[in-house]
Parts: sequence; C-alpha cells; structure tokens
Amino acid sequence: EPVDPFKQGWLRGVYNEKAVPGSEVHTRFPPEPNGYLHIGHAKAITVNFGFAKSYGGVCNLRFDDTNPSKEEERYFTSIQEMVRWLGFQPHRVTYSSDQFDRLYELAEELVRRGKSYVCHCTPEQVKRGRGQLGGGEFGARAACVHWGRSVEENLAEFRGMRDGKYGPGEAVLRMKQFLATKPEEYEVDETDSVEVKKEKEKLKAAADNPALWDCAAYRVTKNRHHHRTGDKWRIYPTYEFTHCICDALEGITHSLCTVEFETLRPAYNWLLEALDMKAPSSDGTGPMQREYGRLNVEGTILSKRRIAMLVEGATIDASAPTAPEPPTEDLDSLTLNNEEGDSSAPTKPQTSAPTNARTIPPAVTAWDDPRLFTLVALRRRGVPPGALKKFVLDLGVTKASANTMTHSLDACIRTYLERSVPRLLLVLDPIKVTLTNLPDDYVEELPEVPFDPKDPAKGSHRLPFTRTLYIDRDDFRDTDADAEFFRLAPGKSVGLLYVPHPIRCTSFTRDPNTGKVAEIAAEYGPDVPAGKARIHWVAESAAHSSPVKAEARVFNPLFKTLKPNELDWKSGGYADDLNPDSLITYPEALMECGFEQVRERGPWPKAEAGAEMEEKAVRFQGLRTGFFAVDEGVEGPGGRVVVNRIVSLREDVGR
Ligand code: ATP
Ligand code: MG
Ligand code: MG
Repeated sequence: EPVDPFKQGWLRGVYNEKAVPGSEVHTRFPPEPNGYLHIGHAKAITVNFGFAKSYGGVCNLRFDDTNPSKEEERYFTSIQEMVRWLGFQPHRVTYSSDQFDRLYELAEELVRRGKSYVCHCTPEQVKRGRGQLGGGEFGARAACVHWGRSVEENLAEFRGMRDGKYGPGEAVLRMKQFLATKPEEYEVDETDSVEVKKEKEKLKAAADNPALWDCAAYRVTKNRHHHRTGDKWRIYPTYEFTHCICDALEGITHSLCTVEFETLRPAYNWLLEALDMKAPSSDGTGPMQREYGRLNVEGTILSKRRIAMLVEGATIDASAPTAPEPPTEDLDSLTLNNEEGDSSAPTKPQTSAPTNARTIPPAVTAWDDPRLFTLVALRRRGVPPGALKKFVLDLGVTKASANTMTHSLDACIRTYLERSVPRLLLVLDPIKVTLTNLPDDYVEELPEVPFDPKDPAKGSHRLPFTRTLYIDRDDFRDTDADAEFFRLAPGKSVGLLYVPHPIRCTSFTRDPNTGKVAEIAAEYGPDVPAGKARIHWVAESAAHSSPVKAEARVFNPLFKTLKPNELDWKSGGYADDLNPDSLITYPEALMECGFEQVRERGPWPKAEAGAEMEEKAVRFQGLRTGFFAVDEGVEGPGGRVVVNRIVSLREDVGR
C-alpha cells in the first residue's frame, strides 16, 4: 500500500479534529480571478482537492470575484483549465458574486442585530481610532462617533450606500467587533471564577487582535462595473464578509487557507456566529478554517505585479517620489478601502512617458512564456502536472511555509521523467559529418533500439545509419590540443550511441563568412581506433524520413541573481540583472525518425491508472541533451515542430 500523503501529519490532524462519522469532507479552492495562477497555487489546489479526495469528499472551485475592477474573462478560463490540467475535477464551479443578493440580505441582518454600523471616517481617522497612529484624539484606541448609531439609522445609511448616496471612501459598513472593548471589561479580578477568568482571557485576545478592530464588511467602490453582475451594485462585500459566509452557504467543512489568514480566523468565526451560521466556540456545526504554510519558490518571480512588468514592460518615472509598494496580500478590509491597492505600482506602460522616465522593454513574451513559473508557463514548458503535485507534497504540508528553489523543482521533474518517457536522439546545433570511406548509398540497419533500455513496454525502433550524419557542435573541437577532450577532434575518434564502430575525424571545413566549422569528414569501421566517449547523432536517410527538423528552445533563469525578489523593482533596477541567455533557440535542430513513432503513441508519461488527466503532452528524453516536450501551440520556421527543454539532464548543465 503506498502511503497517502493526505493521511499523514498535519493534514491528518486537521481531519481528525472534525472527524464526525457520516459527515463528509467538503473543501474549496478560492482564487481571485484577477490573474494567472502560479506554482504557489499548485500547492493550494493540491491541498484542497487532494485532501477532499483522500477522505472521500469533494472540492469546489470558487471564484472569489468580489473585486469588480480586477476581473477578466481570460482569468476565469485559465484558472479552470489549470485545475483540470493538474488532474482535479471541481465538484461545482461557484462564484462569490452569485451570492451578492444573499450577502446583502445577511449584511442587513447584521445591522438589524446591532452588530455593524455605517462609518464615514477617513482612512487616517480609522487608523487613529485603532490606535495605530499613536495617541491622538481618541487616546490609545477608541470607537469613532459613528459606532453608537441606532439600528434604524444604520439600516437607512446602509441602504443609502447601496442606492448611491455616497461616493467611494465616503461610507463603509463596519462590523461591530472588538474595537470598542475597554480594558476594564477583561481585567481579571481576584474574585472571578475560573469560567469568568477564561471568558475574560478570550475577550482580551479578541480585543488585542487588529483583525477584529471593526473591519469593513461593505464598501462603495470606485469601479462599479462587475464582470458578472454588471452595474447592479455600487457596493461590494469584503473578503472578511464574503469568504466565511460563502463557505457556510456551500456547505464547506474544511476551509483550508494559507497562514497569513491565521490572524483572521477569529474574524471568520465571529461573523458566522453573529449570523447563527455556526455555534459559538465550536467547529462542529459550521465550516472550520485551518491554515497551512505557503509555498515560496526562490529563483523566480511570482508576484502578479512583477510578472506584469516582465510581460508588458514598464515605464518608471525616476523623478516621482518612490511610492511604497503595496503589500502582496491585500487583506482588504484592514485598510477599509483596498480595491485600488495596486494602482500606484509602475506596471502599465504609459502612452506619454513622464520626463525622466525609464522605459524598460518586456523581458518575456507572454504570461505563458516558459521562463516564468505561472502554471500556464510551466505547462507550456512541458512540466508534467504529476511532478508538480509530487514536488508540493514531498515538501510536506504543515503550518510552516515551504521554502524551496527552482533547481529543486528541476530535480523533482528529472526524477519523475527519468523512467516515464521514451529516449531519442536529438541534435541541437548540427554539424554535418560525411563518412568518406562508405559508399554513397550505404545504409546499415542497426539492431532494434529500445525507447527505454530498462522498460521494454515502451517499445523499440530501428535507426538507419548512413554515409551522412549530424552531430552536435558542442561535441567537436577544431583542435586536438586538449588531451582532456574525449569527443570528436581532428585525428581523434569517438563512439556513436547504438553504433557498433567508432568514427574518426580526418578533416573539416569552415564557413568562410562566419569562421564556424561547416562540415566534418570522418571514417567509420572496425579498423578505426576506439574513442573514449559516445555521442548522440542523427543520420540522413530520405527512405527513413530522417532526420526530423525541429526548433528546440532551451530555457535558463531569467535573472543572473538567484534572488530576483531582492532586486530593485520600484525604480527598474531589475532590468540590469536580466540574463541575456535566458532563452536559447536552436532553429535547425534535428531529431531521429523515432520521434514520429513517439509522437503517435503519446502522451508521455502515460497517465497513472485512475488519473483523470486531460494531459496530452508528448515528452521525451533527448539523450545527452535534456528532457523535452512538444510545444503544440506554436510552429517553428517552415512549419517545423517546436520542442521546449523542460529541464537539463544534470543540474550543472546549461547550454
Ligand atoms: P498572489 O498574490 O501570490 O498572486 P493570491 O493570494 O492573491 O496570490 P488568490 O487567488 O487569492 O491569489 O489565491 C487563491 C488561493 O491560493 C488562496 O487560498 C491562497 O492562499 C492560495 N495561495 C496563493 N499563493 C500561494 C502560495 N504561494 N502557496 C500556497 N498557497 C497559495
Ligand atoms: Mg497574494
Ligand atoms: Mg488573494
């Protein structure tokens, strides 16, 4: 029996906390449809879908689409595709916006219960009221003048917000949590009973938690138009108001999220309890939130804003005072007005550049450029979804964040592909070799070659061996001076993979224009002295449709530094660290004729038994060159196939 990673350690504990016989597990993956998913989301997807599946439950894909200004159709489509690509089927696809009517009713109900109020404070006044500006007009921390409004007044004002009485920032519905709780309410008295003491400790913890200082439930947004509900609403609910309620309405049992939401757990429970959607101090009756560590991948960029700078280019106004970068996580209601949180960042190329501006061209072609670590990019590069899931789970799911590097992912992919894809001969940068001692029409049928020497199930094929063949430029030196170079050089011999006898270079020519080696003459046969190494090659044989032309693309890190997140993104310094060799194209690559057979019999790897993979990628190992995948989306020059290098064969090999 293989070990089920979801039934170990932290995840097992989470399950056990709520394991009620007969109750089923129901989770959700709740992306905001405001960008493409990245490798970090692969963890969130794997955890939520995998956890539910392991315990016989189901998982919803919920679009958390409460932020009208940021949503676009392409994100909805891409997110669904990526979940399915990872091999998961959502039980239901839901939208927070489908609950807008219900959410609004519940917000009115909260007002009627005296548990929220309409507030007109400025962001600065809110901060001061929270004691976050030090001292000030309210003292350490205090409610504002709007806190004590009557239910009738609050109801009228909330409807006013809904009906357009207020502009953005002029009114906010705030939850009446613990902002106004005074120290005397929780100061422990000698005479208090054990129960009272416990209650007071709980109250103190709540009163000390900034996430419970009367956060926003609804705000008037600048951008009114919503992707799905049109112009119906001018007020939109916050994350804190929406998320827990949608969990409850969808029947979610385990609301698994990342650790930065841990401080919000009391707010999550507070609202559900305030609306009687969950019994007080019990996870038994409603959804329960638990937090796992984020996946942080060093060596690449995952922030949406920064990837946008790489994709679109950036114009940076060097004369403007450097605005602080907005936080990556918009825990929106803490600031009361979050929706334009990103607007100050220098992401959009401007039509009329300000004086003193620095214009930085795009560094990648698109969001699915294989050098990025978005899921669309990883898919296009050829990374198998199974390897991604294995990577996430091997790092372990616990409360601690999983910190790792891109080369650890490479190592995981290598291991995953080692025995699961066929092996082929692929020459990236060919030099023609003529075996001058063989007749023009020489064709030697070599013995059957297995696609994987250790796995006969992958089948085998025949390679022609002819007078004209091609080897990789890297495998030839134009001098025999280097005694440590064991591949082809003038007067030296080398072996060819699968071929019985070695070849020896007798002469070579150069291209008069470029000075590069153009052609090699060599001899072949039993009398040629043996070489010390074997290299890859492909033969030219029209009868065998060999070789197959391809454009091969090899990817290296986008940045020279291993820590691109530490570069200067505010004033554009990141552009000085771009790696000029991040994409190397080999437009004249040649593949052996076995490629056609491999492609016909694809996809590779074969889906595991029972997996609902919609994956069709054809992957193979190019002997001595790396793991490759066919890029089905594009055509190279003259309609030739494009193959992307997924990963090199060893860590130290770049090209
Ligand atoms: P980012 O800001 O990194 O692009 P996000 O948090 O804004 O991501 P959401 O759409 O809100 O993106 O994320 C959906 C889910 O994925 C959330 O539950 C979130 O916690 C989780 N998630 C996002 N990034 C990571 C990560 N690096 N590791 C694990 N889970 C993540
Ligand atoms: Mg985020
Ligand atoms: Mg988010």
